[in-house]
Formats: sequence, C-alpha cells, structure tokens
Amino acid sequence: MDLKIKNVHLFDPLNGIDEVGTILIDKGKVVKDSKSKVGQEIDAKGLYLFPGFVDVHSHFREPGAEDTETIETGSRAAVKGGYTAVCLMPNTDPPIDNEGVVRFIKEKSEEVGLCRIFSIGTVTKGRKGKELSEMSHLYEAGCVAFSDDGNCVMDSSIMRNALEYSKLFNVPIIDHPEDISLSGKGQMHEGSVSTELGFKGIPGVSESTVVARDVLLSKFTKGRIHLAHVSTADSVKLIKEWKTDKVTSEVTPHHLLLSDEEVRDFDSNKKMKPPLRTRYDIEVLQKAIKKGLIEVVASDHAPHPDYKKELEFTEAAFGVTGLETSFAVLYTELVKKGKITLDILIKVLSSAPAKIFNLPLGEIKEGGTADFTIVDLKSTWQVTSEVFASKAKNSPFIGRKLEGNVKYCIVEGKTVFKNGDFINTEK
Ligand SMILES: [Zn+2]
Repeated sequence: MDLKIKNVHLFDPLNGIDEVGTILIDKGKVVKDSKSKVGQEIDAKGLYLFPGFVDVHSHFREPGAEDTETIETGSRAAVKGGYTAVCLMPNTDPPIDNEGVVRFIKEKSEEVGLCRIFSIGTVTKGRKGKELSEMSHLYEAGCVAFSDDGNCVMDSSIMRNALEYSKLFNVPIIDHPEDISLSGKGQMHEGSVSTELGFKGIPGVSESTVVARDVLLSKFTKGRIHLAHVSTADSVKLIKEWKTDKVTSEVTPHHLLLSDEEVRDFDSNKKMKPPLRTRYDIEVLQKAIKKGLIEVVASDHAPHPDYKKELEFTEAAFGVTGLETSFAVLYTELVKKGKITLDILIKVLSSAPAKIFNLPLGEIKEGGTADFTIVDLKSTWQVTSEVFASKAKNSPFIGRKLEGNVKYCIVEGKTVFKNGDFINTEK
C-alpha cells in the first residue's frame, strides 16, 4: 500500500461522506484494505480531506510568455491552492491549435510532476475566428474541450459548426461571451461608477447577447456549450430560461465577491474581462451557485507581469490571478458567512467541473482516483504579494486575511504538496 491517511475528516458531498476516518491508497486508487506494508503515513488530525479541486479555466502562458508564468510555476500555484487538476486555455503563443502544442504541454507537465494538466484546444485556427481548427486531431491528442477564450467566436455560423462537430467527441465548446463591438475600448463595467470615474464602460449586454445566442445555438444543434466567467444577472436569467444538460456555466471567485465599486481605488488588479459588475449581479450569481444553476467556480487564473499591471488603470492589462486564493476566499467570504454551504463549495470546485469535462476525478470512492486536497480550515493566512508561488502577483485579494490553508495535495496517490513544499513525483 502506497499511502495511509488517518484521523482525517473525509468530506465528499457527491457521495454523502462527512466523517472522521482513515483512507488507504494503493497504485493511485482508493482501496478498502490492503495487507501490504504502508509506504507513507499521514496523521491528518484536525484536517479535512476533499476531492482534489479541478480548475477548468487557467492561463499558464507557456509556450510564448514564460516570463509571465510557466507550466511549472502555474502548477505550483495550482497545488498551493488545492487544485490537483487544471485545464489550460489555448491562448498561448503558438496557440493550442495543433497536436504539437498539446504534446509539448503534456510532456512539460509530466516533467514538472505536480498537478494533472489538460489542454483545451482552440475552436478556430490561430484563434482568429475564421476557420475551424482540426478538432478531431486535437481531441485525439488529448484536448478535453475547445475554446477561443480571450476572443469570442463572433461568427455565429462558425459557432454553430463547432457545436455540431463537438458532438462527435461529447466535449463542451467553452464560450468567452463578449460581443467585442459592444465592449469596444471599455475599461470597466458600464454604469454609474464608470460614469463617475470617467472610464469607458463595458456594458452587461456585451456578455448577455452572446449568452443568448449560444444557449439558442446549443438548443438548435444539441451541442454542449459551457459559458465561461458568467458575470451578469441577465446572463443568469438566460441560463435559467434555456438550461438543459447541454448548457453549463462557470463563475469566478472575483465575480462572486467583488463589485465595480472596488474600482474606485484605481487598482489595476481589479481590471479584468468580463469586468466586475454591480452588487445586484453578485447577489444573483451567488444565488445561482447555491441553486446549482451555475455548476462550476473556475479561477480564470490570468497572470501578468508588473510591467503590464503597474500602470494607469486605462493602460494596464486585463486579468487577475486566482488559483492560490480561490478556495480560501470563497470559504472565508461565502461559507463562513453562511451564504453557501461547504457542500456547495466543494461540489463547484471538484465533482461538477470533473463531470462536465469528462474527467474521472472529483470524488472519494473505493476504486476511484486518489487525487485529494487536505486543508486546515481553522488556519488563517494573509494574502500579500510575497506569498504567491505563481510568477505573477496580480491578485485582487491582496491584503485580505483568509481562513483555510491547503496542507497537502495528493495526485494519483502521491504527495505533490506538503506544508508549503512542492514534491516533483517524476524525479
Ligand atoms: Zn475568457
């Protein structure tokens, strides 16, 4: 037997597990009992063991911008935040629009030997929105979904074809819902705060019009659409109206917690796409995850170097990091404050994303994959620009005191993160 974790609070809402006990792991799987000698033993008294978190929306910038983030530093950020699996968006340079890049990412992530890494292929060649990518080749190479994230597929007939084609593989097309003709040169949410501050706005309809188009295209084609970073009450209304098992969606921690009021301090770490919306939108988004209408919380981890962020608000790049703060910030602000239960938080971070992306992860069960996150829920820590394992520190949560500290990450039965240390399992 490879690993025994004892005195741990096992917690898996999908399988109704909520009890203190022992878990045994052999050859990367959970086993009932084993007569062989224990390789490693962890006494996890006072700690919670959750199914490892799965992020379906991260940007690791490699290949192309390794000064900003690499597969190694991104993986470190992931496990530090409790993520044992991450799906990478294809807006790298070159983009993930051919098998060569998928292979490169696979080999690189195996070398790094921390979390599992999956590639999301582009919908169109070069993310240019003109011509469908070789989706079948990308799927064969290991892509788990398709997206032009960062760009919206503005041509509706291309989106229709992508949805039709994706049915062959039963994978979702991930929508970056943004009508660029409506967002234009906007810097923040268009509303009373943008008027007051004198910034060009990105109206809510820039998102919701595309959400409307794509839920209807999903209905028409019966293809699976996954709506990324939903940020407005109107989008939620549309999802509710047109929800089927082929329409799924995600929301980020920052859109669940921060409103456009935050931009009054001109902090460029509050600048991202879609922009922070109103307090009303936040309330609606929180209710939507509580009801399961939005199934997933995704980080949209978008690292940027200081020279792209330490600028005037209007000059700074769009995007914020998230992997290292997602769990703790949601636990502190939503679970501890009684807005959602721990059950919901764990589901939106583990079993729900795993299911939508066809990954055999996200639960604790006999014979199941031993990918786990062990957390000290009582431990508090402060978010400062020094704590990050990511190369970047463009977090909107700097300064916050959070509860919930990830102590261990286990991937396929191997400890890859332990009390702040990273353990490469390939060495
Ligand atoms: Zn996006």
